Amino acid sequence: MTNQRATGADGTEGTDPGPARGGAGEPAGEGARESAWAELVATARRTVADGLVVGTSGNVSVRVGDTVLVTPSGVPYDRLTPADATGVDLDGRQVLGTLVPTSELPMHLAVYRADPGARAVVHTHAVHATAVSLLVPELPPVHYMTAALGGPVRVAPYAAYGTDELARGMLDALAGRTGCLLRNHGTLTYGTSLDQAYDRTAQLEWMCRLWLTAASVPGHSPSLLTPAQLAEAAERLRGYGRRS
Ligand code: 13P
Ligand code: ZN
Repeated sequence: MTNQRATGADGTEGTDPGPARGGAGEPAGEGARESAWAELVATARRTVADGLVVGTSGNVSVRVGDTVLVTPSGVPYDRLTPADATGVDLDGRQVLGTLVPTSELPMHLAVYRADPGARAVVHTHAVHATAVSLLVPELPPVHYMTAALGGPVRVAPYAAYGTDELARGMLDALAGRTGCLLRNHGTLTYGTSLDQAYDRTAQLEWMCRLWLTAASVPGHSPSLLTPAQLAEAAERLRGYGRRS
């Protein structure tokens, strides 16, 4: 994904509004940070409510100017208040709050450093996606939504959580993609907004569930899309959801 701009769920560049203020490189005002923190907490709570993580697993970040707001490490999301806002700069130095930032800072920061268009990152332990990460090096292209993530989703090699090694493997797996699986661990997706990053995780988990379901029927193997079919889907997705 190096230096590649984030594309929309529909494959377009930056069409959704995202956190409206304090874009990458702009000064991050207090109001912008407050509303981005509220959005981040809502997104983190959604990962639990939708069953993509259990307890304090997973983490979420959003970039506001040169500040990256992150979920604190090991704190239940329903306990987070506006006073708990936690932020670091792009070098990982804490610039906001007193809670310990997520242990997966290396992965989140690697995404923001590699793609200036990245505005939000979601990491989960979604069960079907994690199951797929144990079985194959790449999620087979069973559905056209593969194209919304940039192509067949790769699995990054296993490395201990929170390490630079995990972040390096993730970055390689993300080449040309906006999401990947982490072997024996979970998912990571990013986008131009929290909603987009979250939606990509949900779509990824759904596709993993689809493949596992089809692949588990004895005597049959799932039919896969060809590169040409995926390219056609990517082209059509560029106009998806646009009003004429
Ligand atoms: P944190 O609570 O430190 O964010 O860790 C959760 C996790 O998913 C580590 O991979
Ligand atoms: Zn994790």
